[in-house]
Amino acid sequence: MDASKAPPTPAPYRGRFAPSPTGPLHLGSLATALGSWLDARAHGGTWLVRIEDVDTPRSILGMDQLILQQLQACGLEWDEEVVWQSQRAHLYQRALDELIAKEQIYACQCSRKQIEEALWQQGATPKPHEELIYPGTCRERGLALEHRAVRIRIAKPCPIAFWDRRLGEQHQDLSEAVGDFVLRRADGLFTYQLAVVVDDEMQGITHIVRGADLLSNTARQIYLQDSLGFRRPRYLHLPLVVNESGEKLSKQTQAAAIETYSKEIILATLNNAANHLGIYQIIGSEGSVSIERWLMCALRAWKEVYINHLRC
Ligand code: GLU
Repeated sequence: MDASKAPPTPAPYRGRFAPSPTGPLHLGSLATALGSWLDARAHGGTWLVRIEDVDTPRSILGMDQLILQQLQACGLEWDEEVVWQSQRAHLYQRALDELIAKEQIYACQCSRKQIEEALWQQGATPKPHEELIYPGTCRERGLALEHRAVRIRIAKPCPIAFWDRRLGEQHQDLSEAVGDFVLRRADGLFTYQLAVVVDDEMQGITHIVRGADLLSNTARQIYLQDSLGFRRPRYLHLPLVVNESGEKLSKQTQAAAIETYSKEIILATLNNAANHLGIYQIIGSEGSVSIERWLMCALRAWKEVYINHLRC
């Protein structure tokens, strides 16, 4: 075959687990870590851990080390040096500068209360704690960027479509779902949306495996990738682990930290996480011998359920 017509070789698999150090790993975050680790191993890929402490006031001292210890105790070893978002502000600023040069950015001085009022005036009914669709108040004001929130312009309409390996085709019109969103806050901190997109590109991430609670963020991230000329990774959003009341496990819902004081308790926790991922039944009793053995059995189960069955 003429080499120039050969399909491009896909980039080697690079996945990541990106915990925010706001609390120790609980069953939900362990299931995410396990899913992304298994997917990377099943593809013969590289698995990275990135500590997402970009929102420094929310980060809790020592949680990063605790999370890393918990991952290690569960046999989830990473392949390259761990990175901390709090040390990468220069990379986020560089991306923001590019968007400034493209005139996609503007400064906003609205408080949450002012945004709510503007939305009420437009006939919308914003709910407390809900993400607000920015009404565009500061869009044409030409305010200086310093000490103000910085937003990216979203045209109307702004349809984004992408494929999720488990959930199939996904659509979100950004202008209807979020509007102009914040990339740098008034206090100078970069937001998760910008940081995650820059880091995934800089670290060459090809596959993102994370919880379904982040599905509604993906269209924003794709929009930023396109705006910055970055590559688009493949996405797999895992089923969410919920408590008896149907709430996502999180620090807010007082999810318990996973315990790692004995092999038995770790295996029990891994089985619980595997159950949430829908691979527990396939692991079998062989997986009760050691953590390494359990992970091998889980790998076989993962390939069957998430790769052969989903065909990706
Ligand atoms: N840091 C995010 C979290 O802990 C995860 C980000 C991601 O996987 O894209 O929820």
